[in-house]
Amino acid sequence: MKGLFLLTLFLLPYLGLSQSQQNVDFLKSQISLKIAADSKRIDGNVTYSFKVHKKIDSIFIDAQKMQLSRVLLNGKKIKFSYDQKKLGIHKKMKPGKSYEITVVYSCKPKQAVYFLGWEDTIPKNEQIWTQGQGKYSSHWVPSFDDMNEKVEFDLSITFDSNYEVVANGNLIFSEVKETMKTWVFDMQNPMSSYLLAFAIGTYKKLETRSSSGIPLYMYYYPEDSLNVEPTYRHTKEIMQVLEEETGISYPWQNYKQIPVRDFLYAGMENTGTTIFSDAFMVDSTAFFDKNFVNVNAHEMAHQWFGNLVTEVDASDHWLHEGFASYYALLAEKEIFGSDYYFWKLFNMAQTLESLSRNGQGQSLTDSKASSATFYDKGAWALIILKEQLGAAIFKNGITSFLNTFQYQNVTVENFIEIMEASSEQNLDTFKDQWLIATDFPIEETMSYLQASSQSIDQFLKLQRELTVSPINNEEIIQRYWSASSSSEFKKRVITLYHKSLSNTFLKEAFLSGDLHVRQALANIPGPVPLELVPEYESLLQDQSYVTIESALYKLWIYLPQDRVKYLMMTKDMVGFSNKNIRQLWLLLAILTKDFEDENAKARYKEELLAYTSPYYNTEVRQIAFSLIGEVLSFSDQNLKDLVNAAVHPTWQFRNYARRVLDGLVKNEVQRMRLALLVKELKREELEYLNKIVLE
Ligand SMILES: [Zn+2]
Repeated sequence: MKGLFLLTLFLLPYLGLSQSQQNVDFLKSQISLKIAADSKRIDGNVTYSFKVHKKIDSIFIDAQKMQLSRVLLNGKKIKFSYDQKKLGIHKKMKPGKSYEITVVYSCKPKQAVYFLGWEDTIPKNEQIWTQGQGKYSSHWVPSFDDMNEKVEFDLSITFDSNYEVVANGNLIFSEVKETMKTWVFDMQNPMSSYLLAFAIGTYKKLETRSSSGIPLYMYYYPEDSLNVEPTYRHTKEIMQVLEEETGISYPWQNYKQIPVRDFLYAGMENTGTTIFSDAFMVDSTAFFDKNFVNVNAHEMAHQWFGNLVTEVDASDHWLHEGFASYYALLAEKEIFGSDYYFWKLFNMAQTLESLSRNGQGQSLTDSKASSATFYDKGAWALIILKEQLGAAIFKNGITSFLNTFQYQNVTVENFIEIMEASSEQNLDTFKDQWLIATDFPIEETMSYLQASSQSIDQFLKLQRELTVSPINNEEIIQRYWSASSSSEFKKRVITLYHKSLSNTFLKEAFLSGDLHVRQALANIPGPVPLELVPEYESLLQDQSYVTIESALYKLWIYLPQDRVKYLMMTKDMVGFSNKNIRQLWLLLAILTKDFEDENAKARYKEELLAYTSPYYNTEVRQIAFSLIGEVLSFSDQNLKDLVNAAVHPTWQFRNYARRVLDGLVKNEVQRMRLALLVKELKREELEYLNKIVLE
């Protein structure tokens, strides 16, 4: 999984079922679901075949808040216990014998399945999708919250034939009966229940194959066809890097990627079926600032690290997130080059070092560690391990690790043992320093980077020279600048040292035509120097939505006499799928006195105010809330949308809305306005509003 922001939420306490169930082995599962979107209800039945290793008198299956209508053991009705969390079958069972249990149930999942767009009248925005990790698939199918129970799951789903249904495995059969269609999927290997997934919506798909022959299915909304190429760019290359670097072919039958609206994270690596946030569906211009490559590679790497070999518990979480992050970096190195790669490592090291300096360093085997630790420190640990062992030995070790533990659960200790065996080295020092210690080894990482990257080496030398040398700063910078061809280096020089640089120097930097450097120039705080006005104006035509947004804002603020001209130059630009440029433009157009007439302004205001509606994705809405809240004022509809946002399943967005509401209720007038809306709210929204207004 990869979060949009730092998150640790999914590391809920590990529920150890394995202790009680080590004498049972669940082998295969057949799940049939019939989903009713209007009532958000799932009617299902699931059959597990299992073997018993020792004499036992009961087995347990997790099932959250379900109505169980029938439970059968080997086809016969049987007594069971159920406390709304666990289903228990109490019967003496003998070793060596095979059993089959069937559960017929229905449920209205409060979490783990999300229904979007079914309550409005907007066509084609309806979706249903799942999130198992941290949310537990046992909310929609009796299954195992414990990651150690791996089962070969086959899903069959019946739904309205106007929609596309995607789930783990190979679609082997489908059948339409009147308006309903049944999709039957087949898996051939076992996996943990948290990796079960399905997604339903209006989709088209692009099919291709990896160079090793694996079918790749890239899903998209019909209206997004132009974004398919930039979004999925490099997908085949990423799979090639992963197969090459692990020495193990992609371990599942096919690989599907499905964008969904308002996803809880950036992406989730369900087996063969990655679900990701549709904010990553980008056009060619957006690709420059915000592309899917890293998340694409991260979730794909989990197909080996997490899905093929799975942690025993959260203290082994490095084996998932550290490894996925490390292999994603390798793919990015292949795609964006070494300079990009080493500077990214440099940034990660700087952040980790500052956390560590502030006493927030964590051990990689701490089950409650943050994502900075599991993802970034975790990736760094592997880089250093590879450096220490040598690339060939490291790769052999990884291959052997995956081969030995495929379709099983593993611990960090298992990994270290394999690496020690294949390298014939003792890894105690590595373990102490990288896996157990809480401090981040900054000297080791910095000397590695200096030795590996010339531009980082030059940058560190420049910094040293600037602190000790009496010579004019610009002279020193000029010398390093002329000798460097790294845009990563130059962009940092502008960001950090622009105050020491003359307009002549900055003008030269503009002329370089390097989009990264020009973006750093756009982001310099403060007024636009008169000599550089034409250069700043030229930024409005750069192929970067971040650059255009910064430049438009800066020019509008500091050159009031030319506001109309800048608005004309950027009219009709939209920007990212969050409409960053369009929304800023609307606000500035409303605020610019001599731009167009009052009717036009009223239309612009109407458009901007409408962007808080649940019709739009959470990023569009959050930008709208913040622009309207800071500069204009909320309409009644905006307030209703804000209360709606405060109960949204995406926690970052929900928390944002809650903070804004907390501020509003402190103001008596706004509090009264909110109180008057209660009649128009849905139950959940009303409950939340009552809570904060009464407090
Ligand atoms: Zn991940």
